[in-house]
Amino acid sequence: MFYSLQGEGPFMGIPAVFVRLANCVPPYCSFCDTPHSLKDGYDIEVIKLAEEICNFQCKLVVITGGEPFLQWNSGLKELEDILCENDYQLQYETSGKVEIPPSDNARTVICSPKQLGDFKSDEWSFLPENVSEVTSFKFIYDDNEQQIQNFIDQYEISNKKVFLMPEGRTKEEQMQKMEATWDTCARNHWKFSPRLHILTFDQKAGV
Ligand code: SF4
Repeated sequence: MFYSLQGEGPFMGIPAVFVRLANCVPPYCSFCDTPHSLKDGYDIEVIKLAEEICNFQCKLVVITGGEPFLQWNSGLKELEDILCENDYQLQYETSGKVEIPPSDNARTVICSPKQLGDFKSDEWSFLPENVSEVTSFKFIYDDNEQQIQNFIDQYEISNKKVFLMPEGRTKEEQMQKMEATWDTCARNHWKFSPRLHILTFDQKAGV
C-alpha cells in the first residue's frame, strides 16, 4: 500500500492511495510489470486495511494487483462496502481474467485485457461476461492494432471506453513506443494514456 499519483488511465495525475492485492491467474504475462505481486503478500483484516487507507487522508483509492477480484469473497467485497459507505472514490484495475462481481456501489472498473502468448495473438485471457462491468478498457500497445480492433469489435465496445498505453517497463521502452501509440489512437479515435510513473521514475517501485 502506498500513496502517490495515478500514473495512467482515466484518473491519470490524480492523487490516490494504492492497495496492491497479491496473486494472479496463470498463465502469467511475460511483460508483467508487477512480478512481486505474483508471490509476495500478507494477510490483513479488512477493518485494519480500511483504517490504514483512512490514515492517508486521500479520497481516491485504487485497488490493483495482481488480480484483485480473486479476493472478492475473502474481504474485498467488505472493503468496497466500507469505502463506498464512507464516500471514497474507488477504482479497480483488473485484467478481466476472473469474474468481475456486480455491485450496487458507485465504482470505476478499469480493465486491461491480456493476450495469450504474444501481441500478435487473437486469444485473450478475458471472461466475456465481464464486458458489462467495465468502465474503461486500457490496452497495452505493441504493434497490435488489429488484435485490439478485433477485441473491440467482438465485444462491441465503444471507442469512448478505449485507452492505449505503450508497452514497456522502462522509460526508454516507453519513449520508443510513444509515437506509434499516439498515431494509432488518433487514427482509431481511441484515447492515449502515457504511463507517467514510468516516464518520471523509470523502474522505481511504489510510486
Ligand atoms: S494479468 Fe497483470 S498482474 Fe497478472 S501476470 Fe499479467 S500483467 Fe501481471
